[in-house]
Amino acid sequence: MKSANLTPCPLFIGGEWIRPSGYGSPVYNPSTGDVIAECPVGGAAEVDAAVEAAAAAFPAWRDTPVVERARLLFRYRHLVEEDFDRLCASVSREHGKTLVESRGSIYRGIENIEYACGTPSHLFGDTLENIARNVDCESVLQPLGVCVGITPFNFPAMVPLWMYPLAIACGNTFVLKPSEKVPLTSLILVELLEKAGLPKGVLNVVHGGRECVDALLAHPKVRAVSFVGSSPVAKHIYDTATRNGKRVQANGGAKNYVVVMPDADPARSVEALATAAFGCAGERCMAGSTAIAVGSAAERILPQLVDAARSIKVGRTDTPMSQPDMGPLITGAHRDRVAGLVASGEKEGATVACDGRGVSVPDAPNGFYLGATIVDGVRESMNIAREEVFGPVLNVMRMDDLDQAIDAANRSSYGNGASIFTSSGPAAREFKHRVKAGMVGINVGVPATMAMFPFTGWDASFYGDLHIQGREAVQFYTQQKVVTTRWFGGTVDDVWKK
Ligand code: NAD
Repeated sequence: MKSANLTPCPLFIGGEWIRPSGYGSPVYNPSTGDVIAECPVGGAAEVDAAVEAAAAAFPAWRDTPVVERARLLFRYRHLVEEDFDRLCASVSREHGKTLVESRGSIYRGIENIEYACGTPSHLFGDTLENIARNVDCESVLQPLGVCVGITPFNFPAMVPLWMYPLAIACGNTFVLKPSEKVPLTSLILVELLEKAGLPKGVLNVVHGGRECVDALLAHPKVRAVSFVGSSPVAKHIYDTATRNGKRVQANGGAKNYVVVMPDADPARSVEALATAAFGCAGERCMAGSTAIAVGSAAERILPQLVDAARSIKVGRTDTPMSQPDMGPLITGAHRDRVAGLVASGEKEGATVACDGRGVSVPDAPNGFYLGATIVDGVRESMNIAREEVFGPVLNVMRMDDLDQAIDAANRSSYGNGASIFTSSGPAAREFKHRVKAGMVGINVGVPATMAMFPFTGWDASFYGDLHIQGREAVQFYTQQKVVTTRWFGGTVDDVWKK
């Protein structure tokens, strides 16, 4: 480490916390712009050590009774809840979410641990007696071996918790590669799992960027890869890992449409839209980043929406003393990219109805801030309409009817989420039936699924077959064995007579 003030960022391999051999990128406190840690740069050597540790731990862990594996998760859930405030503070510090948002994200993560606690029930197989005379058939679900998780910056705790609790509860061992922008919270999560009684090697952590990821994708002992991040990287992960014979689930980026019909409740729609667009500073794959106002809906909601956006207080999230409504973006470069997309929209003819560029946070002048921004009159051909913005920017498009709105949403290359605000059952039904998205909201702005349902992105929002979370994830982390049994010899009576 360069400075004693930096938070250490060790690797975790085979149950040991390991000092990195070199460092790659800075980890910021985005509220102030200060560097708070350096993320180690890992390559083939670190990856090999971690995968070998996971492979060595697999036979004993696979044979540990599933109820014992679940008990580890029960203890873990308790410890995560006990250290809830520390985890929230860490997410807010390294990512910039407000404490309220951090709490929400950790709760979503806890729900995933709870789902994993139910693994003894999730692993039930099927049986069919007498499929032929005196022949029975049963299916059992068995773990794969070493699984890998590669996670993005925007949910430092929740996304890792989507993956390893269920993977290890199913009997796999795991190597986690957190985002190099937010590697610190995941270390607290691992520390708590260690405290819960994690056997050595069952969960390992490596750090780094592309070199580290590519070593994981190439390692012959890795059986499955769970990925969450941007679409181009998701596609790279999917293509490379499947070519190397691995199972892959790769969640990508998104552009989520929120259709507001003229009969929608204006106040509630505005409140939900503002939360969907500006919550987590728009840095979430389920952000409602494009509103399609149908007919008179624009006149009915836009003025209140602009008022709502202007009232959002932006500020630092790294101190519990004064929490704002919205925190900073992850880096200065990302803030500048988002501001650049707003400028490109303006240049292409859109109107900035609420401008968050140049927002000032006097007690943290070097933080990576951008205020809530509304860009009206966006057309599909514009750059800002096509690219994932991933910031507190709401695009507003105007359309004449529901058909036009659905068609526009369906032309997107993504397919993560889509919502409609209306008081009409038939309009809602038409929308949910026809819209091209895996997660649909009806009068719900952020229809992100909870732990018991799969996180069902479509098209460029997902590469793979079995999604993260829920029963699909249980299938992803297991392989089925079907056993057909016939016993020769005498009847049961012969045995009992002896
Ligand atoms: P990212 O794709 O830049 O990085 C994700 C992970 O991939 C990181 O761990 C990173 O180290 C690694 N990585 C980056 N470039 C790589 C490369 N060229 N080769 C191999 N690995 C590479 O994503 P991000 O900026 O950290 O996160 C934001 C993105 O994640 C957004 O697009 C967002 O929509 C998406 N996201 C999707 C979901 C979902 O469930 N669909 C959830 C959260 C975030």
